[in-house]
Amino acid sequence: MAARIALVTGGTGGIGTAICKRLADQGHTVATNFRNEEKAKAWQAEMKQAGYEIALAKGDVSTPDDAAAMVREVERQVGPVDILVNNAGITRDTTFHKMTAEQWNEVICTNLNSCFNVTRPVIEGMRERKWGRVIQISSINGQKGQYGQANYAAAKAGMHGFTISLAQENAKFGITVNTVSPGYIGTDMVMAVPEAVREKIVAQIPTGRLGEPGEIAYAVSFFVGDEAGWITGANLSANGGQYMGW
Ligand code: NDP
Repeated sequence: MAARIALVTGGTGGIGTAICKRLADQGHTVATNFRNEEKAKAWQAEMKQAGYEIALAKGDVSTPDDAAAMVREVERQVGPVDILVNNAGITRDTTFHKMTAEQWNEVICTNLNSCFNVTRPVIEGMRERKWGRVIQISSINGQKGQYGQANYAAAKAGMHGFTISLAQENAKFGITVNTVSPGYIGTDMVMAVPEAVREKIVAQIPTGRLGEPGEIAYAVSFFVGDEAGWITGANLSANGGQYMGW
């Protein structure tokens, strides 16, 4: 397929790094955002050593102005964004009766509002150029809910509502919009969960193991391909069989 320009938010994280690498392996020019310059530069150097040139632009995706400035900087460095992967995300887990407004808002702003904040500045360009790919990295817990994650599950379910509306509005412009809903992947986010809890999680996964970041990157690359141009508004579960609903 033709080489395109891709922006992967949260590209320095576990799943994001795998997505950046996979898209670069497919010949695309890849950029990501960062918040901490020192951490990002170290990551960029590591990527360079592995043979990957990934552009970096500073920006917090949870605030509209920061996200818009980050997109402008990406476009200044590498050109207009053709492929957007809304991947940046956080958890602030606690049962709802103990949840603070701050824990709720942080998770909604980072996981869900970020989809508005980053997609809004790139969508008009995609419509003008008549080609685009927008992919949300949601979660199994947005599909089935999860004890202690009312904030996260609400944000992740909302991401798919965003997907299916944006898909309808932009299908005639050669833009597809899809969701990937990962199950539990062995990144820092999941390795931060106590081992005893992790063992219980793995026991619920029919494949008997956590997923690999590369397995999510593969799902993303499937949606990116030119051959996937008729697939829009889909939610692809990649969860080792743990949840087989919508
Ligand atoms: P990581 O914690 O490894 O990476 C998260 C990335 O998001 C980091 O690069 C982080 O940057 C960035 N980020 C967080 N908040 C912001 C913000 N406000 N502005 C800009 N960047 C931000 O997580 P994973 O790789 O595990 O997760 C990636 C996505 O996949 C998330 O959306 C997550 O919810 C989803 N997911 C993960 C699963 C898993 O099992 N790991 C399962 C299902 C879904 P920084 O270094 O600055 O913090």
